[in-house]
Amino acid sequence: MSENGNVTNDEESSAPHALEVTPSRDAKVGGLSVRRALPTRGRRTVGAWCFVDHMGPESIAPGRSFDVAPHPHIGLQTVTWLFRGAYLHRDSLGSEQLIRAGELNLMTSGRGVAHSEENPGRTSGVMHGVQLWVALPSTSREGAAAFEHLTGLPRLDLENASATVLVGSFAAQESKARHDTEHVGVELDLHGGGTAFALVPSYEYAIIVADGKVLLDGHVITPGQLGYMGAGRDECVLESRGPSRAMLVGGEPFEEKPFMWWNFVARTQDEISDAWRAWTMRDERFAAVASTLDRINVAAPPWLTSTL
Ligand code: MN
Repeated sequence: MSENGNVTNDEESSAPHALEVTPSRDAKVGGLSVRRALPTRGRRTVGAWCFVDHMGPESIAPGRSFDVAPHPHIGLQTVTWLFRGAYLHRDSLGSEQLIRAGELNLMTSGRGVAHSEENPGRTSGVMHGVQLWVALPSTSREGAAAFEHLTGLPRLDLENASATVLVGSFAAQESKARHDTEHVGVELDLHGGGTAFALVPSYEYAIIVADGKVLLDGHVITPGQLGYMGAGRDECVLESRGPSRAMLVGGEPFEEKPFMWWNFVARTQDEISDAWRAWTMRDERFAAVASTLDRINVAAPPWLTSTL
């Protein structure tokens, strides 16, 4: 492995994948700084997870807006999970839900949904969390939209750590959250020292670090990096010098090749074009969101501009 984390080993080998560490991209969502760990040029998915944004921690001055106005999604689930702060979720199904830290907000777009994420006006002053997307498989990506909000997620103690299971199964605990593919998402709160836990060898896994730093396979992983472990591992050992927080995502490798543009996850350009037209022309595919904010519109995808 080279200094920058590039791996040159044979990915077809049955031996456990060597750790790949890739930098996140800096982006802004609703004015908040995010580190986008997935997708990157070299990696589109980890299991069915296709998007990993780590937002903050960022202090919010009184009166400052971090709203994300109504916008559409297709072909995915949004998984919003806050460590601090709060959002008000509104969607085209009529849902209006305050998202607090430690509560799972899971929106399944199916063929089409729209939502906003708004400043509820009662944050702690600090926003810190993740928004993750799961690519829906073909069996449900053209299906109905749905929304669920879960509190009291399974928590368990590990050596020198505690874990919260957002989605899927981890260490014999299973979240009730809907999952249309075999995947798992876990918050790991490391207290300092070493923590070992079992992995499913057929799953591929990655971690991001939200607070502190975590030693994995001899690499120090810090916020702003994705540590991709690949498949074929039956155990993960993490070490930290003090309190640290990481998110573990994993799942059966997603065999369908997602094609992503803006807020859409599809398979082809034509599917994306159809979704963009439907949103832009206010087609009934995307119902209205009960928000006072103006909806977000974007210019046509680049492959359409020559025909407009
Ligand atoms: Mn969204």
